[in-house]
Amino acid sequence: MLKYLIILLSDDAISYCQYATKKEYANMIDTAVLKKAIIWAMKENLSVQFVHSKNIVTNEISTLINSIDHVDIVPSYHTNVNLLSKAEIVVHDDWCKFESRKGQIQVIRTSFSTLLCKKDSLIKLLKYSDRINIVITDVEDFDDNKVKDYLDFLKSLIPTVIDEYKNGHQVQFNLLTDRLMLKGMNNCNAGYESITLAPNGQFYICPAFYLNDEQSIGNLDNGLDIKNPQLYKLDYAPICRECDAFQCKRCIWLNRKMCREVNTPSHQQCIMAHIERIASKILLEEFRKINSSFMSGIDIPEVEYLDPFDKVQNKKQ
Ligand code: SF4
Ligand code: SF4
Repeated sequence: MLKYLIILLSDDAISYCQYATKKEYANMIDTAVLKKAIIWAMKENLSVQFVHSKNIVTNEISTLINSIDHVDIVPSYHTNVNLLSKAEIVVHDDWCKFESRKGQIQVIRTSFSTLLCKKDSLIKLLKYSDRINIVITDVEDFDDNKVKDYLDFLKSLIPTVIDEYKNGHQVQFNLLTDRLMLKGMNNCNAGYESITLAPNGQFYICPAFYLNDEQSIGNLDNGLDIKNPQLYKLDYAPICRECDAFQCKRCIWLNRKMCREVNTPSHQQCIMAHIERIASKILLEEFRKINSSFMSGIDIPEVEYLDPFDKVQNKKQ
């Protein structure tokens, strides 16, 4: 069921996810489109998320934004300090200028190699943030030779997370703690639970589909027109529905880009999510050494694969 409408306020709105923002053109959403979008979201009973660029919006746009309950997704380099301090989600394209505020989600977009060099920065951030979401932007380049490095990196952060919990600071960190909290899939669900409105008044599966010139899935005048909508649901993803890496975003865009099918995941996405799953299992075991009933309803069983494709193949044989 559709729950969220993501509205890009301009073409160069910050990327909070896997895709790159195109910076060479920057159409702003106009007031007529925004007004229509807000009315549409109200009629459809959707939660609205506004994605900002570095630009300060006009007073008219700002008034419209504030006419509806919403979430602001804002780049860390935005010059409107008031907006930055109130935003629910702040996105960082680098590892500087962190000012964490209570309840705020800090999204850090980073390459894999840079992430591995940033252990000390991440340890500091885990100590004073409520939630850190790392988005690794070059999943395509991940290969089996990097498995050990990634696992060692995540394991090296476990003592910090445990210390923070011991101190009463229950930091959330998507790569380590999310799997501990989940009893079922918590995927992005673009195309099923959320859709994106671009500044041109057209709907897209997610911002990545718009920025990469994929076909729109309808518009504000005629409504949604998603071809084969079932393909965006977990039930129609034969590999993912066999999987329990519940923290995985199951990125439809990466599926489309790397496997040409929105419901078929790439090996890279799967093995990264399973390394996180292994590290989460180790974290859970460490917590249970301190408190045997910690997250008692959660189980992360040992599995023999890093890619659930192997599990599906073995079942067939
Ligand atoms: S499909 Fe979801 S996870 Fe993937 S780029 Fe789009 S919004 Fe992000
Ligand atoms: S790890 Fe792979 S199979 Fe599991 S949910 Fe993620 S993309 Fe799907």
